[in-house]
Amino acid sequence: MKKTLITGAAGFLGSHLCDRFIREGYKVIGMDNFITGDKRNIQHLINHPNFEFIEHDVTEHIIVEGPLDYILHFASPASPIDYLKIPIQTLKVGSLGTHNLLGLAKAKKARILIASTSEIYGDPLVHPQTEDYYGNVNTIGPRGVYDEAKRFQESITMAYHRFHGLETRIVRIFNTYGPRMRLNDGRVIPAFMGQALRGEDLTIFGDGSQTRSFCYVDDQVEGIYRLLLSDYVYPVNIGNPHEISIKDFAEEIIKLTGTTQKVIYKELPVNDPMQRQPDITLARKLLGWEPKVDRAEGMKITFDYFKSLTEEELYKSEH
Ligand code: NAD
Ligand code: UDP
Repeated sequence: MKKTLITGAAGFLGSHLCDRFIREGYKVIGMDNFITGDKRNIQHLINHPNFEFIEHDVTEHIIVEGPLDYILHFASPASPIDYLKIPIQTLKVGSLGTHNLLGLAKAKKARILIASTSEIYGDPLVHPQTEDYYGNVNTIGPRGVYDEAKRFQESITMAYHRFHGLETRIVRIFNTYGPRMRLNDGRVIPAFMGQALRGEDLTIFGDGSQTRSFCYVDDQVEGIYRLLLSDYVYPVNIGNPHEISIKDFAEEIIKLTGTTQKVIYKELPVNDPMQRQPDITLARKLLGWEPKVDRAEGMKITFDYFKSLTEEELYKSEH
């Protein structure tokens, strides 16, 4: 039985990855320090015979007993309000944390996949974004703590591959959504759905002309799984190319939720990328992968999840 370490296991993507790997017959060790995660995301796995959980901050030395086949490094704050609130931890988990995990992978002769992001393209001047685009990042802007940590993460991962011959994989994840996102993490989907459920106006930042392309979590997990098992060491975009402006997206959410509230406009956060759409030609060719779940279907499943939360969860403003 192959053994996989998944960091960020109590988070949104990490917990779905744990589910997938257990379903595929792997032994899974989940690791998390709960800084932005939630125990409830892995509660259903705690007594599973093939699941083990280690509470640990990956920026500190990591000890895992016995052999390991794969490591998936997903620990990192991921939403703009999280990484603005904990900027130093964000830089540390992408740099020191990644260094620790690469060292662990080397010691165990394990293959490691690291979670990079479309944010490494910054406010992109190339559209849609292809993997060979170097990006347009403001190193000292408020989002720089996340973007640069992830850019460093890619560099050190390639260095371990080239210098130590480590088996590495890099996924550049574009906006992904689904059940188990934190309602108050500030990202646009939980923000709009939470506002609709609480009877609040929907907050559009800027004039809403900025675009995003939203990928349903099951599609994302499938792409990551295929990339891990592939032979390709360079970064691969995984996301859904179906692009929409935030203004039009707010209208879709109003229709889906049936809210009678209106939209209100707030200031656009500094360095908020104006457009984002993955070019997934490489993933299609290399992995035979493309997204299957369209936005209407994925949003309905996600809204049903948020509707199932308790009043207390719905009104909890701080994590
Ligand atoms: P999340 O906040 O739900 O999950 C991140 C998890 O990492 C949390 O459980 C948190 O407690 C844990 N964590 C953070 N720092 C840690 C540390 N030092 N030690 C141990 N655990 C730590 O976020 P997510 O959306 O699931 O994102 C997971 C990964 O995917 C991140 O690396 C993120 O950068 C990447 N990513 C996500 C998206 C997306 O749209 N969801 C897009 C691009 C990249
Ligand atoms: N956004 C918005 N209202 C909100 C939250 C976000 O208009 O209440 C916008 C945000 O400015 C950005 C887009 O939605 O342009 C996506 O934001 P999110 O935080 O989800 O992800 P990211 O900016 O990292 O892509």
